[in-house]
Amino acid sequence: MLQRVDAEVSGRRTPPPLPRELVDAVNWLAARCQRSHRNAMAGVEIVVGEAREFPQPRDFAYCTAAPQITVRPTLHEQAKHRIRAVLAHEFAHAYLLQHGVAHTERQCDALANVMFGVVIRYDRDDTQTLSTRGVAPRPSRLA
Ligand SMILES: [Zn+2]
Repeated sequence: MLQRVDAEVSGRRTPPPLPRELVDAVNWLAARCQRSHRNAMAGVEIVVGEAREFPQPRDFAYCTAAPQITVRPTLHEQAKHRIRAVLAHEFAHAYLLQHGVAHTERQCDALANVMFGVVIRYDRDDTQTLSTRGVAPRPSRLA
């Protein structure tokens, strides 16, 4: 309620609520998150972006130092293993960005694995997955 009032006063548009599938994935990750990383996770804003921000089929999310995770409009329609892995990877980016740590994508996955007690793998679409049918570490052909 307070957020809505603030938005009206400042003229900002109140962001729509996140799809339930994304909230469920965030809650699943929060329940698994190491105590030492929980504050960093809580400070991250998640917003649904626009389709044009995700030109490659394998692009489902990106993270900025705000810290803010922007997700593809169709992320919530994906398999649970994909949603959880994509968000885990982005939360690790958020943590590293908040701490000013330069890092590679593989280092990001390694942190996500520790933060959430998971193994980030890559499926045949080169997208993150928690399915054991994926491959790890991240294929070197990916940026
Ligand atoms: Zn990444």
